[in-house]
Amino acid sequence: MSAHQKLYEGKAKILYTTDDPEILLTHFKDDATAFNAQKRGQIEKKGEINCAIATHLFKLLEDSGIPTHFIDQVAPNQMRVKSVKILALEVVVRNIAAGSLCQQTGLPVGKVLPTPLVEFYFKNDSLGDPLLTRDRLFLMELATPEQLNQLIDQALQINTILTAFFNRCQITLVDFKLEFGITATGQLILADEISPDTCRLWNQAETDPDRRVMDKDRFRRDLGNVEDAYQQVLERVLATL
Ligand code: UDP
Repeated sequence: MSAHQKLYEGKAKILYTTDDPEILLTHFKDDATAFNAQKRGQIEKKGEINCAIATHLFKLLEDSGIPTHFIDQVAPNQMRVKSVKILALEVVVRNIAAGSLCQQTGLPVGKVLPTPLVEFYFKNDSLGDPLLTRDRLFLMELATPEQLNQLIDQALQINTILTAFFNRCQITLVDFKLEFGITATGQLILADEISPDTCRLWNQAETDPDRRVMDKDRFRRDLGNVEDAYQQVLERVLATL
C-alpha cells in the first residue's frame, strides 16, 4: 500500500497510510454528527481544536503510564498514531448520570454516581451501538476475559487521571467514551481520540444545566455557541498542567 492513501473515513476523522506500515496519519475533520449520524453539521475549527486537545490529553496519559497510540502532532489538525486493530467496542466511563444512562434508567441528570461506572457498547452503526452485557461481549468474541479486565483497569485509571486534570481546568468530567486497539505485538493500547466530541464536560463556574455544557451536547441539543465552548475547553486545557 502506498503512503498517504486514505485507509478509512469516519464521521470525525480520516485515517491515511504513511511510508511506515506501523504508523498512520489521523486527520481531524470539522464535520459533526449526532444520533447515529441522523444529525449532521460542521463546527468551525473543530478539527484543529480536537486535535490539539487530544494531543494534550494523550501526552498527559502517556506521562502517567497509560500506553496510547499517539506519536506526535504534525499539523494543526493532524497527528501520527501507531497502527492498531481497533476493538469493536466503545468503552464508556461515567461519573455523573447523563445522556443514555438517564434515558434508559430514569436516574436524574446530574446525579453523582457512588463509584465510576464502566460500560461497553458494540461499535456497530447499523445496530445503533447497543449496550453489551459481559456475556454477550464474550459470546460475540469482542474481547477475551483478560482483555476485558485490562480494559476496565485502564478505563478506571484514565478516568482518575482525566477527572483530576479537568478539575484543575475547573471543568467536571461527567462521562466519556474510549476506544482501544491491539498493536502488531499484541499490546492493548488506548486509541481514537479524547475531545469535547467524546466527553461530557461541564463548566464548574456555571450552574444552569444548559449554560454549563462545554461539549458536543451543545451541537446535539442545539444549544448554540458550539465553537466558543470547544475553544474555551482548549484554552483551559492548554493553560493547565
Ligand atoms: N459517546 C461518544 N460516541 C458515541 C456514543 C457516546 O463519544 O458513539 C460519548 C458521549 O459523548 C458521552 C459518553 O460517550 O460523553 C456517553 O454517551 P451516552 O451513552 O450517554 O450516549 P448519548 O447520550 O451521547 O447518546
